[in-house]
Amino acid sequence: MIKKEHSPILEVHDLTVTYDSKPALYNASFGIPKGSMVGLVGPNGAGKSTLLKALMELVPHSNGYVKFFNENLDSVRKKIAYVPQKESVDWDFPATVFDIVEMGRYGNKSLFKRLNKEDKEIAKEALAEVKMLEYADRHISELSGGQQQRVFIARALAQKADIYLMDEPFAGVDVASEKTIVNILVQLQNEGKTIFVVHHNLQTAVEYFDWMILINKNIVASGPTKDVFTPELLQKTYDGNLTTLEQIGQVIQNKQFSTRKS
Ligand code: ADP
Ligand code: MG
Repeated sequence: MIKKEHSPILEVHDLTVTYDSKPALYNASFGIPKGSMVGLVGPNGAGKSTLLKALMELVPHSNGYVKFFNENLDSVRKKIAYVPQKESVDWDFPATVFDIVEMGRYGNKSLFKRLNKEDKEIAKEALAEVKMLEYADRHISELSGGQQQRVFIARALAQKADIYLMDEPFAGVDVASEKTIVNILVQLQNEGKTIFVVHHNLQTAVEYFDWMILINKNIVASGPTKDVFTPELLQKTYDGNLTTLEQIGQVIQNKQFSTRKS
């Protein structure tokens, strides 16, 4: 079930990515509507991070293409913020919290231009939004997992992008951080931004996302959450993995279909 989107803000066509000639993502095609909160959901190793990296051209495409706002990435890069999966970040990198958030401003500058007062102000505001302003001078490695994640989200906020791609922003974060991050995502969506999040908790996926993409190397489904979050499609995505299916059964039994927008 791939719902056709007539004026997608992000469009992916036949996208294939291979590592050592083994496909990690195969023939992915889908489009997402502007202003949606999208959850990209699938088992470990399903190619979720690979898809995000392919969108940002951090891994080569073996086939297919991607359009943002009907354009190639290069001409719209500033409008797209990417928060990588936490475990892929080198935390010994010698940088303070403020240094990291400031980096979000460089994409808006021409080469060699220095950051100005306004950039610093924007970086400060972003830190305040994630409730980390008082940690501005700390080294990033001194923080807890949830705090580190919030700093990386502040960097994305400082970029003032239109599309936010986030790889497992809730993995390994405390409950308070998860709440803060969810509130920020809701606020971004209210401002008309489009949010695309890799997520693996099926229980919260139903609550958080109004659009869902199920992936297991192939795109199994893409569409409004109420159409995609079905036992059949989830079973197909998770290859009948028992523990996961029990989890799905529970979610469906609880009828947690009160997605935020309805
Ligand atoms: P997910 O994020 O859904 O857990 P990934 O996109 O990280 O999945 O990985 C998809 C598959 O590609 C996995 O089998 C993984 O082992 C493999 N893979 C990921 N990155 C690389 C890489 N740099 N080199 C070789 N194989 C990789
Ligand atoms: Mg991943």
